[in-house]
Amino acid sequence: MKIAIASGKGGTGKTTLSTNLAALIAESEEVVLADLDVEEPNSGLFFKAETVHEEINVKAIPYWDESKCTLCGICARVCNFHAIIRLGPSIVVFPELCHSCYACSELCPEAALPIIQKRTGILSEFQTGNLHFIESRLDIGEEQAVPAIAKTKKFAAQKYSGVRITLFDSPPGTSCPVMETVRDADFVLLVTEPTPFGLHDLSLAVDTVRVFEKTIGVVINRYGTGNDDVAEYCRREQIPVLARIPDSRRIAELYSAGKLIYKEIPEIRNILEGILDAITEITEGGG
Ligand code: SF4
Ligand code: SF4
Repeated sequence: MKIAIASGKGGTGKTTLSTNLAALIAESEEVVLADLDVEEPNSGLFFKAETVHEEINVKAIPYWDESKCTLCGICARVCNFHAIIRLGPSIVVFPELCHSCYACSELCPEAALPIIQKRTGILSEFQTGNLHFIESRLDIGEEQAVPAIAKTKKFAAQKYSGVRITLFDSPPGTSCPVMETVRDADFVLLVTEPTPFGLHDLSLAVDTVRVFEKTIGVVINRYGTGNDDVAEYCRREQIPVLARIPDSRRIAELYSAGKLIYKEIPEIRNILEGILDAITEITEGGG
């Protein structure tokens, strides 16, 4: 089962939930945690894990071979992403805009645009006990998160097809990287907080996830602050609230210290176990 842990905005406790759930599951069985926030992966801060694998992430881009080019301009015309232009006597490629569609290379009549592989970041895999932790990290200046997310998910699926549960720690927001994260999840856990901002971003996240017809559950973090509008919204939208995590200075302190909170606060262990039971019940019971 693939469980995506997402939120409409950053700072709601998504990584806290992902890392604590992963560590708790790992107490009894193998589990995979994939940190798909490839611009700023930080789940690894909570584990003392050993590196077991690293590989460079690359993307295919055209390379202009000036010696063959006749400056016909076909390449610039066929590129839907404005990633290649003619500039006076030169053809200029913008790698950050390129979507690796190969059109310019295939349609160049002079074979002057061979495809090369450009480094975009690094995929790393770590292990501690039963926990397999995978992250991809974009190089500075790289903007395309979606290919790195897709590759990380594929790596996890191929290497750990026999592991029962995979958790995806999603990037924040509701844009393409989040869509790529939740696209093939079996269950999406949306983390929010009981504030007007939390409700606004939760409703956007729900709209995004519903495009893919995913089963959703909500966790309300920092419960006890704000108001009941999030709970009311979930009732109206018939989205189960699987847990309410209390607002607590102790939790914030443990998070800041990079510690797993369920190991220090027994109530959190109970809450996490309740979340896992509820997901199992919903997915196996058909909702
Ligand atoms: S299509 Fe090929 S030959 Fe024509 S301008 Fe582009 S690189 Fe040059
Ligand atoms: S590979 Fe596709 S997206 Fe990239 S520059 Fe060529 S036509 Fe544009």
